[in-house]
Parts: sequence; structure tokens; C-alpha cells
Amino acid sequence: MKTLKAGYEILTPISENGLAELQHIERIGRVCYKSEGKITQDGESAKKFVKMLIDRGHEAMLEHSTLSVKFTVDRGVSHEIVRHRIASFAQESTRYVNYSLDKFGNEVNYIDLEGGIRLDNKMKEMDGETVAAILAQWREAMTQAEAHYMKMLELGATPQIARSVLPNSTKTELTVTANYREWRNFFKLRTEKTAHPQMREVTIPLLNELKGKLPVIFEDIEVE
Ligand SMILES: Cc1cc2nc3c(=O)[nH]c(=O)nc-3n(C[C@H](O)[C@H](O)[C@H](O)COP(=O)(O)OP(=O)(O)OC[C@H]3O[C@@H](n4cnc5c(N)ncnc54)[C@H](O)[C@@H]3O)c2cc1C
Repeated sequence: MKTLKAGYEILTPISENGLAELQHIERIGRVCYKSEGKITQDGESAKKFVKMLIDRGHEAMLEHSTLSVKFTVDRGVSHEIVRHRIASFAQESTRYVNYSLDKFGNEVNYIDLEGGIRLDNKMKEMDGETVAAILAQWREAMTQAEAHYMKMLELGATPQIARSVLPNSTKTELTVTANYREWRNFFKLRTEKTAHPQMREVTIPLLNELKGKLPVIFEDIEVE
């Protein structure tokens, strides 16, 4: 078994300060107000216009956008992400992938729990010894799950049958494509203190990076 840190990769190229993306939304949104004459080439009118749309709740205009992100998370977190019905998904399949093969390193990859524990509202205050004991239990369970998975394959089970013993911690890659309106909804729900800590482990850094790349779209979403 191997443990990996959860992470993400932004797949959609984003222009300098997100200006091209804002100008695209501006061109479309100004049709509503018939204010195309106010468009300036330097992008300043786009910044003001898109901010105005968000401030007054006219977020439907943000649907004229697209952003794809590849998450590397555990299957528990991926199960929560795919509840977002407005997004589109592509996920590593445990039906077709056989982790006993050389190209997958002949082992099952798991997402490390430590990052999640550090963000868990109750567990983050625990002493190191207790956390170590909890992690030792988790590692033992992961090792056993992998051993049963490999044994089932060895006995002739197909990956789609053997996968039934793979736990929530199994690493998965999940590509999510959505428009900015949906990403805003996603971040509001999934960076909140009430969201799962392993979800927050990836959504908070992602939101912070997007605030840097597309400030007008994301900067008003605050994270505690
Ligand atoms: C803290 C937390 C705890 C949760 N706990 C549970 C749980 O215990 N059990 C559980 O089953 N789920 C749970 N969920 C998942 C939750 O119920 C939603 O399925 C998930 O958050 C997707 O939210 P959404 O509907 O806003 O997003 P999306 O599906 O992406 O939808 C985006 C928006 O589109 C609109 N929309 C989409 N579909 C419809 C529709 N049919 N009708 C009207 N408007 C629509 C809504 O405005 C919605 O906010 C939890 C989520 C969070 C954040």
C-alpha cells in the first residue's frame, strides 16, 4: 500500500488576472442591460460589471463560463463532490482499474488521513500519542483491505467484484467541470467549517488559488 496527500490541479488555463474570462461574461451580461457601449478594452469595465452582477445576485451570467479541476482525494470525499448535480464528472474507475497490475505499482493507493485529522474540529486538539494510535489502527485496516483485494484477484475475481473490500480511503482521481456559479455554490458549502475536514483540505487551498487568479469571481467567499 502507498499513502498519498490529497490535492488538486486546475486544468483550465486562466488568463492574467482572469481578465479575458471577465470580459467574456461582460460581453454576454451587457446584452441584458443594453450597455455594451460601456465596455472598455483595458478590462476595467469588465471587473466592475461582473462585481455588480455578483453583488446584486445576477449570478446566472456566471453560467457562461467553465472551469475544470482534477481532484486527487479519497473515495469518501469524491462521493460528496459528485452530489453537485450541476457539475460534470470523470472519475477513475474501480471497475476497470486493476491495482494488482504493474502499471498501478501492484498496490492500492490511499489518501493519508493526517491532513484531515489536522482540520477536524474535535481531533485537532488531540495529543500526538492518541493521534498516532488512531493512525496505526487505520494503517492496519488499509493493509488488510489491500491484502484481501489482492487475494480475491489472485483467486480469479474481476476488479469490479474485488473492489467491494476497498475502503473510503482509497485514492481516486476525479475531474470536475462546472461554471463559476456552480463553483461559487460548491465553495460556499465545501469550505465551511461544517464540511468534511478532508474536503476542506483540498477546497480551501483551491479557493485561495482561484481568489488569486479570478479575484472578482471568488474573493467575496470567506473561509473561517
Ligand atoms: C455540510 C454538509 C452536510 C451534508 N450532509 C448530507 C447528508 O447527511 N446526507 C445527504 O444525502 N447529503 C448531504 N449533503 C449533501 C447535500 O444534501 C447536497 O446534495 C450537496 O451539498 C449538493 O448541494 P447543492 O444541491 O446545493 O448542489 P448542486 O446539486 O450542485 O446544485 C446547485 C444548485 O442548483 C439548484 N438546484 C439543483 N438541483 C435542484 C433541484 N432539483 N431543484 C431546485 N434547485 C436545484 C440549487 O440552488 C442548488 O444549490 C451534505 C452537504 C453538506 C455541505
